[in-house]
Amino acid sequence: MLISYDNQNEVVFSPIKQSKSVTVCVKKNLFMKKLIIFFPFLMLSLLVFGQNRQVAITFDDLPATNASPVAMVEIIDKMVNTLHTEEIPAIGFVNEIKLYQKEKILPSRVDLLKKWLNAGLELGNHTYSHVFIDRTSIEEYKADVLKGERITRPLLKSYGKELKYFRHTQLRTGPTDVYRKALTNFLHQKNYTIAPVTIDNDEYIFAFVYMKAKEKNDEKTMAWIGEEYIRYMSEIFNFYEKLSLEFLDYELPQILLLHANDLNADYLPKLLKMMEKKGYSFISLEKALEDKAYQLPEVTSRRGLSWIQRWMLAAGQNPKSQPEVNEKVMEMFRNMR
Ligand SMILES: [Zn+2]
Repeated sequence: MLISYDNQNEVVFSPIKQSKSVTVCVKKNLFMKKLIIFFPFLMLSLLVFGQNRQVAITFDDLPATNASPVAMVEIIDKMVNTLHTEEIPAIGFVNEIKLYQKEKILPSRVDLLKKWLNAGLELGNHTYSHVFIDRTSIEEYKADVLKGERITRPLLKSYGKELKYFRHTQLRTGPTDVYRKALTNFLHQKNYTIAPVTIDNDEYIFAFVYMKAKEKNDEKTMAWIGEEYIRYMSEIFNFYEKLSLEFLDYELPQILLLHANDLNADYLPKLLKMMEKKGYSFISLEKALEDKAYQLPEVTSRRGLSWIQRWMLAAGQNPKSQPEVNEKVMEMFRNMR
């Protein structure tokens, strides 16, 4: 583009006499030249900063995944602090089993949910015991959903809010059509909105090795895992942005799955920065679900896929798999388990 313009420019800048029209033409061309020089930078900044991308951030396994009682408090404190400071309208999905000790409610654990709500964040149901759907009958699953709202529902009510959202454990919605339809119908009867995920990822692998390094106070390894995590998540975002474009012809408001863990307690600020650099603004789950894509038919799958992949499979397409965790992190994961 620059070359062809320079060619044109030579013709304009060889005037025989400086008539008014030539002066205007020269000025116009100077402006054009500047515009063309800055055009690539303009486009690049529009691409990076002007994308108007949107994402709803969701956290599973509240109050926290695999954490000691002390770590649980630290995780919630740090995450709430970041989300509140950055004004992110996130939602956390609770496993109420973690609010009990020997059948007795632990008020200190319920207080962690109150901290979450005090910061203006939302809560949803993620089953009582973090059900493994493949080993659970539909009747047991339904009972676990109801058991999982006994504290959260009245707690939300005391904040003038309603328990509205349900997130399937391991994103598994039912191994068969019959199971999935029965569970979906039950959830709708109970006035739940299913919370899908479009940006799925293997963050739990990073979180596990990070937790192990933290237990040993191995700060060097923690920092390395943290940086790898941000790099990996950036690749994951690229992948699902492209998948959305390929299938829908636009980038839908994404729904990101994360967990309440040490890794996100420490690295959420950097993760948010990564998203902001890609042009994301942060929206509520409710707002994301207004997009028409979330009404698309989905396939029944035994796997916990992204909803974009489920829609693609239902439309007879064969979606690619998401980027894999790098081999060094995988090796640490295998050795530490
Ligand atoms: Zn979970």
